Amino acid sequence: MSSGPYEQKGYFPIENPTGESSNFGLIQRLQALAHASLAISSELDLTTVLQRIADTAREFANAQYAALGIVNEQGIITSFITSGISPQDREQIGQPPRGHGLLGVLIKQGKAIRVRDIATDPRRSGFPPNHPVMTSLLGVPVSINDKIVGDLYMTDKRDANEFTPEDEWWLTLFARQAAVAMINARLYNKVERAHKRAEMLAEMADVLNRTIDPEELFGQITQAACLLLELPAAALYVFEEKHNRFSLKAQVGLNPETCIHTFQASENSPAAKLLKANETISLHEKADLEHIQPFLDGVKPSAMLIAPIRQYSKINGVLEVYSATARRFTLEDKMLLETFATKAGLALEKAQLYREKERFLSMTAHDLRAPLAAIKMSAGLLETSLPPDLSPALLRLVANIRRNSERLNNLLSDLLDATRLEQGSIRLRVEPLEVVEAVAATAHTLTPLFDERSQKFSLEKPYQEYWVMADRRRLEQVMVNLLTNAIKYTSNGGKVTVGILVEEKWITIEVKDSGNGIPEEEMLHIFDRFYRRPIHEQNDTTSGTGLGLSIARSLVELHGGTIWVESEVGVGTSFFVKLPRYIRE
Ligand code: ADP
Repeated sequence: MSSGPYEQKGYFPIENPTGESSNFGLIQRLQALAHASLAISSELDLTTVLQRIADTAREFANAQYAALGIVNEQGIITSFITSGISPQDREQIGQPPRGHGLLGVLIKQGKAIRVRDIATDPRRSGFPPNHPVMTSLLGVPVSINDKIVGDLYMTDKRDANEFTPEDEWWLTLFARQAAVAMINARLYNKVERAHKRAEMLAEMADVLNRTIDPEELFGQITQAACLLLELPAAALYVFEEKHNRFSLKAQVGLNPETCIHTFQASENSPAAKLLKANETISLHEKADLEHIQPFLDGVKPSAMLIAPIRQYSKINGVLEVYSATARRFTLEDKMLLETFATKAGLALEKAQLYREKERFLSMTAHDLRAPLAAIKMSAGLLETSLPPDLSPALLRLVANIRRNSERLNNLLSDLLDATRLEQGSIRLRVEPLEVVEAVAATAHTLTPLFDERSQKFSLEKPYQEYWVMADRRRLEQVMVNLLTNAIKYTSNGGKVTVGILVEEKWITIEVKDSGNGIPEEEMLHIFDRFYRRPIHEQNDTTSGTGLGLSIARSLVELHGGTIWVESEVGVGTSFFVKLPRYIRE
């Protein structure tokens, strides 16, 4: 028997079966092995790799069936891939083997086995009821660095009664290659998963950041937590320090009837444990999960992860995710939930600040309104009743007071409108309105502004009357916002045109200017509240609050319409307001 370099190094665990000294058969087998190894290592998707291992091994050993079991740290078969068996037959067999009997020899002792007839082997533990009858068997452990990660076996050699030592030698070598391919695919899967999770985390944090309603946020956070960790249920409890208790804010996947709404932080709950530990914890013992509410189907969770939600560095709540299957969460799972909970805490902080700001703004606007109205009225009266021989400097001062008190008044109205629109407390008083007349009347009030900037205004009137159902004051407010913007953002001597477009069910008003246009990246934001073009890019004379377009959009939408913009830098901008048409009987 030859003693090549591989044998000396102990690569061949069993005898070279061919017994030939210069052997052609061995070369052929090695070639086949190289092909097979290539075939399994050219894939990175774990499921495909596993299936390919089972198929390739069966093909080369010329067996009827083959199976590859994946074994976890505890030596339990966690997944089981078969080859040569129809999906229906596979379904009939049911659960994967437990790894007793002959498979146990492979997994626990790490030894290859070759058996002529399974039925007569004393180590067998029997087949489940719907298992096809199997006779000859060849199995090898799949191991890497002496650690068993699976078992690979085939049954029923096609052209002979039993598998040969040569088959065993070949399969042993192949199993080593298979182990490497499996580990590679596993690592790749892990990296890919981590990448996907990071992407998802960023996307979800972005969604949370755009939400300003805390109640809506609670729901979004629990849903996102389920998606991120691929789990069926989650719950968010806030910690009310004053009462030392947790209360439920949102949940998904749990039975609402049996859901615990509040509980004392002193009880032996996971949330209380987290308060003590001050970090993310995972629970999988039955005793720890005793008081956890069941899923929708009444089954209790078998494991959970719970992360702190911190606001202003203090634990203000907990985010819990539940698993239906018994499992130990990995460090990556823990870190993922913890990072997400941190982002959730920041989003909640932001939403609360936003709410406070809203409250403050509307209170301030209310309180300023009355004194400001008095100043405005007094300035108006003063201006009209001044003696004509007063010095021009004094006249200018009084006019200044009146103009600026009017500006302040408009600003306050905008602030109040924006808050009311946000709260949904603006009610429209709709009536049939003739569009051209309404637009012309509004434009007319702005004539002094057009004149001041030597801009040409024109209204392209249709030949007949067209009607919409609208609140006159509010529609005028929309038109004033669009027209004053057109004036503001168009240079002196420019052109502003209003056109009316009529369709069967819609009337569209177009406000077009020959201004500088809106850069592409700005288009996404101009309808946001308080958005203004950065001050250094604005013309010095353009004053504003960044509220006009957001108010216009809310008002148009309240009317059941839509508003949008088209613009070309250096050419001009068109705003379109599309409203449902009203046909008069
Ligand atoms: P404001 O005019 O008070 O800044 P708006 O909400 O009315 O607030 O408008 C938001 C932003 O949209 C403006 O700051 C400006 O950058 C841009 N914008 C609005 N209308 C026009 C227009 N007709 N031409 C160019 N830019 C415009």
